[in-house]
Amino acid sequence: MKLSVIGCGYLGAVHAAAMASIGHEVVGIDVDESKIATLSKGLAPFFEPGLQEILEEGIASGRLSFTTDMSAASGAKVHFIGVGTPQQKDGYAADLTYVNAAVDGLLPYLAPGDIVAGKSTVPVGTAANLAERVTPTGATLVWNPEFLREGFAVQDTVDPDRLVAGVPAGEEGETAADILREVYHPSVAKNTPFIVTDYATAELVKVSANAFLATKISFINAMAEIAEVTGADVTQLADAIGHDARIGRRFLGAGIGFGGGCLPKDIRAFSARAEELGRGESVNFLREVDAINLRRRDRAVELVVDALGGTVFEKKVAVLGAAFKPHSDDIRDSPALDVAVRLKGLGADVVVTDPAAIENAKRVHPQLTYNEDLDETLRDADAVIVVTEWDEWRRELAPEHAASLVANTIVVDGRNCLDAAAWRDAGWTYFGMGRP
Ligand code: NAD
Repeated sequence: MKLSVIGCGYLGAVHAAAMASIGHEVVGIDVDESKIATLSKGLAPFFEPGLQEILEEGIASGRLSFTTDMSAASGAKVHFIGVGTPQQKDGYAADLTYVNAAVDGLLPYLAPGDIVAGKSTVPVGTAANLAERVTPTGATLVWNPEFLREGFAVQDTVDPDRLVAGVPAGEEGETAADILREVYHPSVAKNTPFIVTDYATAELVKVSANAFLATKISFINAMAEIAEVTGADVTQLADAIGHDARIGRRFLGAGIGFGGGCLPKDIRAFSARAEELGRGESVNFLREVDAINLRRRDRAVELVVDALGGTVFEKKVAVLGAAFKPHSDDIRDSPALDVAVRLKGLGADVVVTDPAAIENAKRVHPQLTYNEDLDETLRDADAVIVVTEWDEWRRELAPEHAASLVANTIVVDGRNCLDAAAWRDAGWTYFGMGRP
């Protein structure tokens, strides 16, 4: 099928390449000329495992192309909208400027029978508004929220856990759902759940999934706060409660909390939308989830300051991590960089390393010092803090070797990802999050 994908960021670029990889003819469209130039060469504009390969393959096959020209969408049967929905500059609500611009820009190129499939995460009610603009063209709007995880985006797009299609009532909606089934034919063939709903449900599925995940993380971080004043170990607590199948161990990693381009802004936008709907109290807890999450960053900074005797002024702190999570170079609302910036603000001589995110971090925080080399980052450090749980560090960061490089064997494990006993055995003073 001929498809267009409007917005070629973390979601859209992967979606376009993945759809080409399952046999569709895809044009990716974005307003960012440099991103389009990079993608057109078959290069991934950001770090995402597996993306480079399917981009190269798609372009070589002739089925995948990229352009800044919206008219290239004409002739496509399904048009995916994957533009950003960031937090508004002056409030909690989502900024829908880009979604509105993308849909308005697409309208002249729609033909009767086309499908416009929204993938961006939007406040409930958005699709119904957009449908008023799309319907007069004879095209049908559906909402098809995206659940991919950065770092696993290719796999999650090609083989998702479930597919959700919010469609209008009646025959038009049924036809639209069938066309989406055709788009996602490999998943449908292997019986991946394909859930057809109305617009509001589809929009809410996405934001409630993210609200649930954020709540689960903040729940265990709240337990970490209690553990810290009682001498308990939150990692053992998480293991023990996680054995209960009703609870499950995933997303119970206490640490410096969540960040990135989705969870923080999505829970805030959800609160803002619930308030507009007169149901603010229903999700009041999300404010608390947000507050707990942000407090963990304070706690990590406090641990470093306390470990260094009350001040970090002119002390070298090696910060291991910049990306908001491993397997990604995304630094949007990164707790790791937030901690680094705060330590710098307290006068520390901060050196940051990260396997993928240094270039992005430099652009946003040029005041920090960066080093690609882990050993050089550690050399003569007065304290080390791990803020992104890259596998490399779990595997390659031997506590004995690290001890031979630093000035002081103090390590703050902001992600509870190191083997505390091994680090202590190697002579380190180890501080975890919510651990004695
Ligand atoms: P992003 O900032 O990486 O990408 C957005 C892209 O849209 C940019 O390349 C931008 O140039 C482009 N754009 C903006 N206005 C445009 C227009 N009028 N026409 C064409 N292109 C335009 O953002 P992202 O992370 O890809 O997120 C996009 C949406 O997907 C958001 O709503 C987000 O919440 C949602 N989402 C993201 C993820 C994720 O892991 N990143 C997962 C699920 C859902």
